[in-house]
Amino acid sequence: MQNGICPKCQAQEVYRMDGNRLYAQEVVSLKGGAISKGDAPHKYLCTNCGYLEYYLPLTEENLEMVKNNWVRVMPE
Ligand SMILES: [Zn+2]
Repeated sequence: MQNGICPKCQAQEVYRMDGNRLYAQEVVSLKGGAISKGDAPHKYLCTNCGYLEYYLPLTEENLEMVKNNWVRVMPE
């Protein structure tokens, strides 16, 4: 996705929005307590199929918050 190609439909119609341009509402919905506005995720959207990806900056603070509050998905 970050290379400009959609992983779902292979279209080269990917647009990026940096984290600091997120709306406050989106920041709140992702908050498990610790994601500040400055650390909001970057977004990539495919305008061909609508697939949306988020990338959270991998700071120590963010990783700790996720590991403490989110459910880890184990490989089957
Ligand atoms: Zn796509």
